[in-house]
Amino acid sequence: MISGQGTLPTGTRRQKWWGWGEEGKSYPLEDRPRALPFLNQILGLSGNEISPRLTLDQIRLRESRADGRLLVKLRSIVGETNVTTETRERLVHAMGKGYQDLIRLRRGIVPNPPDAVVYPASEAQVAAILEYASQRDVSVVPFGGGTSVVGGVEAWPREEGGLLLALDMTRMNRVLAIDQVSRTTKAEAGIMGPDLEEKLNHAGYTLGHFPESFEYSTLGGWVAARAAGQKSTKYGKIEHMVEGLRLVSPSGTIATRDVPASAAGPDLRHLLIGSEGIFGVITEVTLRIHRYPDRMEHRGILLRDFSSGMRALREIMQSGVNPPTLRLSDSAETSAFAALLRRPRKTIDRLETRLGMWLMARRGFSLESGSLLIMGLEGTEGEVAEQKRIVLAECREAGAFNLGRGAGETWHRGRFELPYLRDVLLDRGVMVDTLETATTWRNLENLYLRVKEAMEQAIASMGAKPFVMCHVSHAYRDGASLYYTFLAKQIEGREVEQWREVKKASCECILENGGTLSHHHGVGLEHTPWMESEVGRKGKELISAVKSTLDPRGVMNPGKILGTTPEWRGT
Ligand SMILES: Cc1cc2nc3c(=O)[nH]c(=O)nc-3n(C[C@H](O)[C@H](O)[C@H](O)COP(=O)(O)OP(=O)(O)OC[C@H]3O[C@@H](n4cnc5c(N)ncnc54)[C@H](O)[C@@H]3O)c2cc1C
Repeated sequence: MISGQGTLPTGTRRQKWWGWGEEGKSYPLEDRPRALPFLNQILGLSGNEISPRLTLDQIRLRESRADGRLLVKLRSIVGETNVTTETRERLVHAMGKGYQDLIRLRRGIVPNPPDAVVYPASEAQVAAILEYASQRDVSVVPFGGGTSVVGGVEAWPREEGGLLLALDMTRMNRVLAIDQVSRTTKAEAGIMGPDLEEKLNHAGYTLGHFPESFEYSTLGGWVAARAAGQKSTKYGKIEHMVEGLRLVSPSGTIATRDVPASAAGPDLRHLLIGSEGIFGVITEVTLRIHRYPDRMEHRGILLRDFSSGMRALREIMQSGVNPPTLRLSDSAETSAFAALLRRPRKTIDRLETRLGMWLMARRGFSLESGSLLIMGLEGTEGEVAEQKRIVLAECREAGAFNLGRGAGETWHRGRFELPYLRDVLLDRGVMVDTLETATTWRNLENLYLRVKEAMEQAIASMGAKPFVMCHVSHAYRDGASLYYTFLAKQIEGREVEQWREVKKASCECILENGGTLSHHHGVGLEHTPWMESEVGRKGKELISAVKSTLDPRGVMNPGKILGTTPEWRGT
């Protein structure tokens, strides 16, 4: 058994139990002089708010109920050192990385920690664990990177006192093949984003999947949650990348064929992609890959407002070019970005910034009211030139100020850093969370306004000053996704309730106004109250029927997707 702060099985990474990413890394605000004044002003903070977190020693985690029989069996399957009941590991595997998770972890509120964590190294070991868990009615929660923000990895006990097992996939982290002829790769599901991409890059390829959680999420987690990366406009969501996959369920294994397309009945891949661990464990995935691009370029463009920006994006998407990244912020988010800008270090940079601001103001643009578009272009020299020509022409047509490459490259360099800022905000007593949806171009602006208003009202109704910002995160020919970030001063002692009000108001508003419950975060526990509104009663019955076939004892990730409006996981 792994004890204390001891070693982890090879291949696993140590993350903070109370926040994002690796210990010791943060998002310093010291060289961003406008950040704290901006935060205090938008949220009405005094600047003295602090929200302390418990230390690991202060957390009283329920004792593990794993009995000798379970541990002996698991160890016989995966080896002595690959099963643990150690507190820190149980804590890290108890919840994901959403606001509700972090706020409860920091206060030591951990209702259902796993009784043990097991680290299989092969599909055969996964199958043996599931067979035993099924025989003994032990609930199994597949765990990739644990970055779910919808309660996907929090155990939901089926009955009082039932045993809970976290099945950590990160030892299954091999790239099994790179087929340069078919341009596909086959990898084990527990491989982390950077490890997979590095191996592909080494062979001259890229997958093109870069969610903001890239550094700590896994291939299996992406597929199980139908994730989307920052380059999805060119490369697609993860479901567009999957050619085939293997899933081990308690009642057997399903392997879809590695073929480019098939008409042999309904596409089973799409039943398994997005299954969030409720049918079984995804063990292997075959993915479509692309030549590593010759050229990459990022640029920032300031549109006059969000509305004209949305129109420009639609024109770009319908023109036939697919620049990998098109990320359009509303004015609230644009002003927040401006407040987070670093103080230029060199005199020449300071002069350049001042000149840029002067030129922008002269043309009637401002970072406070404008709408920032980040465009990422990549491909061959010719493709990049063509993408740039069309994007810039559409933006000019919409009336835009070209901020140049500096703004784009700054975003690109910091694209995985913002989650660290969330921890800094939590320390300062700020509620901060995100949610996302998608709809058609025709409905996009309407949905944007309705949801923003619903969030603001929900926050204000509890007496706090709201700040809601949004960006179009992924664009298609027929529509786009909207990604909201909402902030407010925490209501002390009622943090979860405060968050829940915003979540409830947003989800109801999204469904009433033609959006989807989730474009890429998934359902988890948090969205289950609205699943029937999303897919209808028959739709839910169909998913239940598949689950009964694959998991007749109901041990796989109970409560997720199909849960019957579980009590909110409050205090
Ligand atoms: C800061 C931050 C930024 C994020 N940015 C993005 C983003 O840009 N795009 C995006 O799509 N999402 C994003 N997310 C959400 C999250 O990272 C994604 O849902 C990701 O796909 C989860 O991968 P994971 O490996 O961490 O899975 P986990 O969180 O471990 O699991 C997610 C779900 O999948 C199940 N699961 C995991 N592995 C398997 C498996 N092998 N077989 C079966 N089921 C499995 C789990 O049981 C759970 O239900 C973000 C989250 C955070 C905290």
